[in-house]
Amino acid sequence: MDDIKSIMYRITLIPGDGIGPEVMDAALHVLEASNLKFDYQKAWAGNACFHAMGTTIPDETIEMARKADATLFGAVTTVSGQKSAIITLRKVMNLYANLRPLKSYPGVKSIYSDLDFFIVRENSEGLYSGKEEYIMGGEGAIALRKITRNASERICRFAFEQAIKTGRNKVTAVHKANVLRKTDGIFRKAFWNVADSYPGIDAEEMYVDAAAMFMITQPHRFQVLVTTNLFGDILSDEAAGLVGGLGMVPSANIGDENGLFEPVHGSAPDIAGQGIANPTAMILSASLMLQYLGEYRESLKLEEALFKVLREGKVLTQDLGGTSSTQKMASEVRKKLEKVNRDYSKMGREGT
Ligand code: ATP
Repeated sequence: MDDIKSIMYRITLIPGDGIGPEVMDAALHVLEASNLKFDYQKAWAGNACFHAMGTTIPDETIEMARKADATLFGAVTTVSGQKSAIITLRKVMNLYANLRPLKSYPGVKSIYSDLDFFIVRENSEGLYSGKEEYIMGGEGAIALRKITRNASERICRFAFEQAIKTGRNKVTAVHKANVLRKTDGIFRKAFWNVADSYPGIDAEEMYVDAAAMFMITQPHRFQVLVTTNLFGDILSDEAAGLVGGLGMVPSANIGDENGLFEPVHGSAPDIAGQGIANPTAMILSASLMLQYLGEYRESLKLEEALFKVLREGKVLTQDLGGTSSTQKMASEVRKKLEKVNRDYSKMGREGT
């Protein structure tokens, strides 16, 4: 236990806008009860930052995120015409893999009660290039969709490695190569090239429209799904709907040098400031961060504590059918984490 406590992790916090700071506070409140030490540094990004500093993503924030052991990101409101802070961070830090675990949770009303799969979304290219231009004197517009063999192979490899790491035996590539023959043609070819080096893992491919349907009718067929940027964004929100909504799904943005962890949901301006946002996705994002830092046992304990609260169903936010505030739910998770810690100590599992 003392060993763990002697490590101090440098974490950059980017709370952002809307419910971002609310769920961030909640997650930090829970993390305080973990057996780890964190040196937090707060950084600005998003719409409020734009009004205060004239930019949605100051260079200083990027530097702080680069230097940290990991970054926790809440959510930002991106106003039309402004540079997206999160897309910029993913790009400049080369956080090419976006990992989204989709899981049914005990006690949470959801369409399926036993889902447990991953969506791996390519983060660095695709339709999120931000390159659009008007044509026909503004009567039309074109968006650039860049797909490269390198980035496609890199994300497919990440997906197969994720399958191995988590004991899955199938990876599904999702694309639309019958229509997007060149761009998704490259993605598809890259997938099969990579699949050849993983003979122990089944590989399959599926068009994105069919995948959208199977996500609803037969989601159990997915174990690890790998796809390009926009398709991954849409399919993971769809999948969030299967497991209790956007408040439930965390994500990890991983590169070779850095990791940034954020809920899949956005800043939800409609519920911001009311203290009713579900903190689950942010708490689970913190748990993914602990895994990234190699703190698997602390991550497990955090999830165990959260699952206890969900299973009991007494202290939940409104979207989960409860009446509790964000902070109250977080305090309950923290209480449970303290108990999980005590139980682990009693069982002598600390330090093993
Ligand atoms: P963005 O464009 O950044 O994704 P958005 O407002 O369009 O932002 P989200 O913020 O992802 O979309 O959320 C969509 C809706 O889902 C919200 O308006 C809100 O009602 C609900 N929602 C999202 N996150 C949560 C949460 N943590 N707790 C409760 N409800 C949430």
